[in-house]
Amino acid sequence: MGVELYITDTLRGEKVKFEPLNPPIVTIYHCGITPYNYSHIGHLRAEVAVDLLRRTLRYFGYIDIAVSNFTDIDDKIIRRSKEEKVNWEEIPEKYIKYHLEVTRKINNLPFYVYPRVTKHIKEIIDFIKELVDKGYAYVGKTGVYFDVDKYPYYGQLSRRTEKTLWEQETDVLQDKKNSYDFALWKFRKPDEPFWSSPWSEGRPGWHIECSTMSTRYLGNQIDIHSGGTDLIFPHHENEIAQSESALGIRPWVRYWFHIGMITIKGEKMSKSLGNIIPAMDAIERYGAMELRYYMLSTHYRKPLDFNEEDISSKIREYKSLTSTISTLLTIFGELEINGYLNDEEREVFNKIIDYNRKFVMAIADDLNVSEANRILNEANSLINKEVLQKPKYSLVLASINFFKTVNQFYGVWDNLFYGKRENVEIVYKLIDILMEVRSKLRENKFYELSDYIRNKLGELGVIVSDKGKESFWKIEKL
Ligand SMILES: [Zn+2]
Repeated sequence: MGVELYITDTLRGEKVKFEPLNPPIVTIYHCGITPYNYSHIGHLRAEVAVDLLRRTLRYFGYIDIAVSNFTDIDDKIIRRSKEEKVNWEEIPEKYIKYHLEVTRKINNLPFYVYPRVTKHIKEIIDFIKELVDKGYAYVGKTGVYFDVDKYPYYGQLSRRTEKTLWEQETDVLQDKKNSYDFALWKFRKPDEPFWSSPWSEGRPGWHIECSTMSTRYLGNQIDIHSGGTDLIFPHHENEIAQSESALGIRPWVRYWFHIGMITIKGEKMSKSLGNIIPAMDAIERYGAMELRYYMLSTHYRKPLDFNEEDISSKIREYKSLTSTISTLLTIFGELEINGYLNDEEREVFNKIIDYNRKFVMAIADDLNVSEANRILNEANSLINKEVLQKPKYSLVLASINFFKTVNQFYGVWDNLFYGKRENVEIVYKLIDILMEVRSKLRENKFYELSDYIRNKLGELGVIVSDKGKESFWKIEKL
């Protein structure tokens, strides 16, 4: 491979050359959300950062296998279900749907598996059993706990060398050997969902799910584990302790990819400050691709301060770039193919190619988007001045290809290059509407009309099938 990729690994605390275990495969586990409320812009930022990483890997010839979990049972979900007075299972359904919708809107690559805790209880229990059998965990009166003293490298990821900094889960202090042990399995409490286990009815602790589900889908050692910096302690520290103890592999994760938090005008986003911005609100306000471009313009490890000034300036940049690309694409088809470039044109051509090279190199350097964006906007000025004024075939083509390269990483101009995404969405929605109408017709026994709709859709390659009262559709050859 021509270009070497560098990323920062939190565990080693430095930028290191990226070398996956089994190239060209790269396994990625991203700590997803606990769906108890609407995903906010902080979640969106983390997802966009991982998306940039995945697109970068693909650009450099890797095949990524990326998985991201949903913690669909948790104290917050139970609390929320009581507040909303609904069955606890309805809470994750609602917010997972929202989360998937916003990540799709912002043009993120979908993950291959979105494992959920409640669908992996058996695997989680097996994992805990392994830890108990090997002596890394003990059974208390309120749960099964991981014995942190049995794991010699605890605190390395978060650089907490003092045991006094490890304290966690203080509500069950009396039941634990040490204040820093953490729950693998929590015994059943009244009014809470539970599953049976060899110890007592109950539910999994938080951290164990990621060790279990990443192993199930990605194997015993993973290339990249990502998540927000707020997860470093205790969540990721605990994941490492469990996984390395149970699996006997070190390092369990080869690269820890952590994404900085979002602040709002310098303040942390929090419920008490009332400054949480739901992801869809931001998308509707600024535009999905505008927001994506803005989020991509700060290095993934740095905190991102969300403020109107920065957003407006990034939106201006995005619009200017978009207008350049549209113009290039519009004029390209009408240009005569050059047989000759004069010295001046040759120089411009070389400059554009060099911007392309520099852009790729900046991204390869730990996704250095500040440098990449500087190059991008410099190239935009040059193209506006030297290419669009007196367009020549070779120069316009080099410019288009430069922006195409940028888009392979950023994914903010799919509409311009690959077109019609919005139109496809409208078509899908129209089919849904027809299907609703057809269901109503069937309910009222207007079978002739409902068959007519099915046949007409069939002629267009949209296959409609009925199972009992429910109907489904799919597009042939898709
Ligand atoms: Zn996790």
